[in-house]
Amino acid sequence: MPRTTELLLPDAAGIARAVALLRAGELVAIPTETVYGLAGDAANDRAVAAIFAAKDRPRFNPLIVHLAEVGQASAMAEFSPLAGALAAAFWPGPLTLVLPLRPGAPVSPLVTAGLPTVALRLPAHPLARAVLDAFGGGLAAPSANPSGRISPVSAAHVMAGLGGRIAAVLDGGDCAVGLESTILDATGAVPVLLREGGLAVERIEQRLGVGVATRGGGARPSSPGQLAVHYAPRGSVRLAATAARPGEVWIGFGPEARGDAGLNLSPTADLTEAAARLFHLLHEADARAGPAGRIAVAPIPETGLGRAINDRLRRAAAPRGRSSPGSPREGLEEG
Ligand code: AMP
Ligand code: MG
Repeated sequence: MPRTTELLLPDAAGIARAVALLRAGELVAIPTETVYGLAGDAANDRAVAAIFAAKDRPRFNPLIVHLAEVGQASAMAEFSPLAGALAAAFWPGPLTLVLPLRPGAPVSPLVTAGLPTVALRLPAHPLARAVLDAFGGGLAAPSANPSGRISPVSAAHVMAGLGGRIAAVLDGGDCAVGLESTILDATGAVPVLLREGGLAVERIEQRLGVGVATRGGGARPSSPGQLAVHYAPRGSVRLAATAARPGEVWIGFGPEARGDAGLNLSPTADLTEAAARLFHLLHEADARAGPAGRIAVAPIPETGLGRAINDRLRRAAAPRGRSSPGSPREGLEEG
């Protein structure tokens, strides 16, 4: 539904308005030194689902959580000495670190795509920092462009792509770096490059005196996409189930395919609500069904966020021990 997207000025009133909207679960595009990010409360399932809806993203790939302070980052994720050195050397700045997520951290499972890791960054842009400071928590923020289009480096780019679909754009002029952040997996002993970006790998290597490995070298999972495939219930999953068969735990959608008690993605067939609840209900169904149990999921329309929901469900339903639909690099795709 088209709405009026507010263009906020880069002053105290504009920042306050951006923060108020974010606290209310709305989406605000904010300038960072890399590109404009489409920000939403990382702890709010519905806000994060709305990010995927506004961008029309066909997949729930994991999002980067933006923070104001290193203290907030260490409350959310575990830092090895290596990760701490990377953060000390390059934060705030265009470096994203993938780290082990602390249990109970205030992050929607839609942000991490159900992974036990989380991608964190402290942006250097003064407006991004001012918003994050006042907001006081994590903001999930992929690039503020419709899926498959070019990342925006001005407020006008954001308006052209997402105007009418998000609450506001905070106008911070042109982005200085204009490239996405460099992403390193810092969960292991050696940093692994997941995405090239605004911080040159050579600079990281020189500064820390360690080599940065590339994906595919060694035993580490070669892409977040492959990792995401491993997030699935332990038992089997049957899709497009209009009724449960004996012994199945049934996840419903809409008023007709109701599902088992408490297991309906959205009784009103609202796809944003369904996306927000997806990982929670998969966990719940997994717990109810047990290791060798059987889960059935009601049909979900293949429109809007329904495509990303179905993509995730197809992965959950894919035979184990093989790769599932999608190219091996899918988790790294921009959009
Ligand atoms: P974007 O959404 O365009 O900002 O891109 C976010 C990037 O971060 C994608 O390449 C993701 O695959 C990557 N990413 C985010 N979270 C994780 C994670 N937990 N593990 C690995 N990669 C991640
Ligand atoms: Mg992008």
